[in-house]
Amino acid sequence: MNCHPRRLRIPVRLLSAVMTALTLAFALLPSHAQPTQPTPPKSPELPAAAKPPSDLKFIDPHVHAMSVTPLGLGAVATWMEQRNVERCIVSPLNHKGSRPKTEEERRTMLDNFRPYQGRIYRMTIIEPDEVQTVDEAVGILKREIADGAIGFGEHYGVGLMFDDPKNLRLYEACEKVGLPVMFHIDQNKNMVEAGMARVDRVLKLFPKCNLVAHAYWWRQLGNGACDRQLQEHPNLYADMSGHVVVSVLSRDRKYAREFLIRNQDKILWATDEGWWSFGNKDRQMNQHYTFLEELGLPDEVRRKIYRGNAEKVYRLKPPGK
Ligand SMILES: [Zn+2]
Repeated sequence: MNCHPRRLRIPVRLLSAVMTALTLAFALLPSHAQPTQPTPPKSPELPAAAKPPSDLKFIDPHVHAMSVTPLGLGAVATWMEQRNVERCIVSPLNHKGSRPKTEEERRTMLDNFRPYQGRIYRMTIIEPDEVQTVDEAVGILKREIADGAIGFGEHYGVGLMFDDPKNLRLYEACEKVGLPVMFHIDQNKNMVEAGMARVDRVLKLFPKCNLVAHAYWWRQLGNGACDRQLQEHPNLYADMSGHVVVSVLSRDRKYAREFLIRNQDKILWATDEGWWSFGNKDRQMNQHYTFLEELGLPDEVRRKIYRGNAEKVYRLKPPGK
């Protein structure tokens, strides 16, 4: 190919001079003004097959078991092995076999938990209609704490607004005895409006009661209420269990990553697995085990979300103690 050597020489010299000038200019800049590491991509794309973390074990503070039946906790232990879960917290639901209905069933449940001490913890629950006063609730909770309960939940508040007086009794009792409350919100349980002002009210009324949000609370991620509440209230946490969370966080992965980093001391990894899913991987929260790995979170943030925040909120002792 034909080219004109005289024409090329001038731009090459010019370019060289410009490069020398630029190099000098950067060398003269103060160190903090020098170009930094390239920033990670703003919206990381989903890898083809994200893997669960291999460098640590999960703590799952939100599972349900048939704790009153002979093999109910064995099913939990098998699932923990399969899913790399080091410790978990079982919360009772109002189903037969999940929550003791008699003193005899209560003794059976306590016997069932004993072999798993330090690995499978338990929460306790009082239905809003079951007590008439705060003191009555406090009496029940003190006995439950003496027998190993470390949290109150899953608090459903069926047919009640979130801040119904019957619910307020329970939050007050939990504040008095120092039990964190894990609550569920949906269309007919612990109901709230857009913005969740009723949750703000409870958080302010009982500032020493730690509350852990779950379920439809996360549906208000898009209107900013979740982020605002976590930032405003030192006593609010959120667990990312259930079907809703990964789906709402997936809508905008850039926002999800920023939200999780901003609230890194407030978010608890969790699944909401239960007796319906322990033996059936198709029914398990498969995405929960990999989703956070797809976001490229800083390591210290991963460790807080996967384990550290659950240890802090539920005051879990190191394993084996
Ligand atoms: Zn649940």
